[in-house]
Amino acid sequence: MVLQKKSNGLLLCLGIESTAHTFGIAVVDENGRILSNIRAVHKTTRGGLIPADVADHHVKVCHGVLAESLATANVGLGDIDLVSYSQSPGIGNCLRVGAMFARILATLLEVPIIGVNHCIAHLEIGKLLTAAKDPVFLYVSGANTQVIAYEGGRYRVFGETIDIGVGNFLDTFARHLGLGFPGGPKIHQLSLAGKQYVELPYVVKGMDVSFGGLLTNIKQKYDTKEYTKEDLCFSLQETAYAMLVEVTERAMAHCGKNELLLGGGVASNSRLQEMCRIMCEERGARAYVLPTEYNVDNGAMIAWLGILEYNAGKRMQIEESNILPYLRTDEAEVFW
Ligand code: AMP
Ligand code: MG
Repeated sequence: MVLQKKSNGLLLCLGIESTAHTFGIAVVDENGRILSNIRAVHKTTRGGLIPADVADHHVKVCHGVLAESLATANVGLGDIDLVSYSQSPGIGNCLRVGAMFARILATLLEVPIIGVNHCIAHLEIGKLLTAAKDPVFLYVSGANTQVIAYEGGRYRVFGETIDIGVGNFLDTFARHLGLGFPGGPKIHQLSLAGKQYVELPYVVKGMDVSFGGLLTNIKQKYDTKEYTKEDLCFSLQETAYAMLVEVTERAMAHCGKNELLLGGGVASNSRLQEMCRIMCEERGARAYVLPTEYNVDNGAMIAWLGILEYNAGKRMQIEESNILPYLRTDEAEVFW
């Protein structure tokens, strides 16, 4: 049987995301047209992410997510020219499921496979979907909090959290308040009714931030019952987001860049977006924000980075399609 290409001769990539709670599969063509972007998220009401449980979730949903992604894109498996997957960084158990699924598909379809870096994928989908060309990237997710920019052939990390990610900080405090997961949006909702600012530790060290002490402090304040939830959530947002905006502005000044791109789940926060816009306006720069679907972990960004790397000549043997849970953003070479 001769398979009819649905993409008018354009390369079609199937991208698989599985670094943490999200298992996502997307189909994207080499012009950057996103034909589908389907995700299933492992959610818990209590406790954090247990790696083995999340991996089990991914195993359970992988077949359904694939079927829905292909159906939405209106393509068959035979139309896929390339398979990419998130190779780094992330939770080993979770990465393993995506890498294995990608390996099986690439083997059966006899198409090339490419493993990509998740953080860089967030950045590249931002460049695809906005007018940003050479931005400073504020990447704020559950596990990651980094200020990244391109300098000298690599995406360098100019600032980062020295302990927990900002999303993890929000979620942990939200659990302490009994709000459940994900905590960021619930904290934001409560913050809108906040009436006064409660002084909290503001921890910026050079270009780095720290949320560990702030978390302990605000939990203790809550436990004294002297402050309302609303005031604490308001003060938490004002403090934590100001810290992020400060280090981002410093990186922009240092690199001489006049574009800011926001990414990661916490980038959906309207107060953080507003603070970034104000900072950028004051320095004659522009802030770019993505639709939520592309801020959170998603397969489309993995597919798009796969296409960029493949078209720039990257090839990976099937035996090389491993996982690199601890690879840092600045260790990945940018050759596309
Ligand atoms: P990610 O790890 O990129 O999928 O992002 C997940 C994180 O984003 C979780 O910690 C959420 O609490 C957080 N998050 C999602 N939406 C919002 C929001 N509107 N404001 C603040 N945090 C958010
Ligand atoms: Mg992410």
